[in-house]
Amino acid sequence: MTPFSKFSRVKKGVPSEKYLRIRLPGSFQWFIDPVSIEELRAVFEEARNLQIPTKVLGGGTSIVCREIVEGLVIRLSHFNNAVFEEDGVVSGAGCTLSRLVMRAAMGGYAGLEGLAGIPGTVGGAVSKNSGFLSSIGNFISQIAALDQRGNPVTIDRKHLGPDLSSSLSEFIVVGARFLLPRGNFSSSVRDFTHTLDAHKKKMPTNRRSVRIFRDEFSDGSPAKAVDILQLSGCLGLFSGGASLCSQNPNFIVDAGSSTAGDILTLTSVVGGRVKKRFGKELRLDLTTW
Ligand SMILES: Cc1cc2nc3c(=O)[nH]c(=O)nc-3n(C[C@H](O)[C@H](O)[C@H](O)COP(=O)(O)OP(=O)(O)OC[C@H]3O[C@@H](n4cnc5c(N)ncnc54)[C@H](O)[C@@H]3O)c2cc1C
Repeated sequence: MTPFSKFSRVKKGVPSEKYLRIRLPGSFQWFIDPVSIEELRAVFEEARNLQIPTKVLGGGTSIVCREIVEGLVIRLSHFNNAVFEEDGVVSGAGCTLSRLVMRAAMGGYAGLEGLAGIPGTVGGAVSKNSGFLSSIGNFISQIAALDQRGNPVTIDRKHLGPDLSSSLSEFIVVGARFLLPRGNFSSSVRDFTHTLDAHKKKMPTNRRSVRIFRDEFSDGSPAKAVDILQLSGCLGLFSGGASLCSQNPNFIVDAGSSTAGDILTLTSVVGGRVKKRFGKELRLDLTTW
């Protein structure tokens, strides 16, 4: 039997470029952007039964793909609803993070403005516990997800460890509830604008870029990756068409000609220099498929 033959919306051999920030040529073996939780569950169950690996795609801002990504890639762009309530917001995983953060600030809700400028989706940010001036995990009260068997679960924040990304590695996040104190409109908008400006100043202007490390060592101790890379003598490093961003060396920029191999080689050279200088590794932010 051909896999997924009963799912007309599962596509085979889908070009991956347009779904990724680093637009390397390649393809997803199987791909679906389900329109409902029922469709998501059914297709996930089929993949499980056929032992086909699944991967979840958010905004693709931190994913580097090799030429062919085996298995089923699931995108959740239709899960993009955000409903504001008295004490916060319930958002789908596919909602763009910047849109959620801006809408919260405009609605006079405090908290999320510390995430202004982070690209990607709510699902990607939750599963990685992304943060800038604050971490998204600080505002989550519940997460809606599918477990490894495809069962829908609601997880209370208190049942997850401080490191959301390892606690959630086995789940598909479909949405989250955020508890947000009501601030006042003008201070929420002012804080949002300040954070956005501060974020922009630290980020590469080149769109074809990917962040390499999180701001922590792999033992969990905090670290400012950009400073660690400078102290490790990484400025100016490159491999093929991939080079470290001169403005912020914690980003790899693609001149348009790099391969996944260039990016991974450069990541490994930089990681090696950090290990030599500090005796430990920084935690990777980029994900390789
Ligand atoms: C210019 C720039 C600035 C950035 N600034 C910051 C910053 O300030 N702070 C910061 O923390 N990060 C930053 N990042 C890194 C990145 O954008 C964030 O980590 C972002 O939250 C990733 O979201 P995404 O939707 O693009 O996830 P993707 O890149 O699509 O996926 C990342 C990982 O999350 C998993 N995932 C995605 N969605 C789900 C889901 N629904 N359920 C389960 N797993 C899922 C994927 O399988 C993958 O392993 C920056 C990146 C860039 C390019």
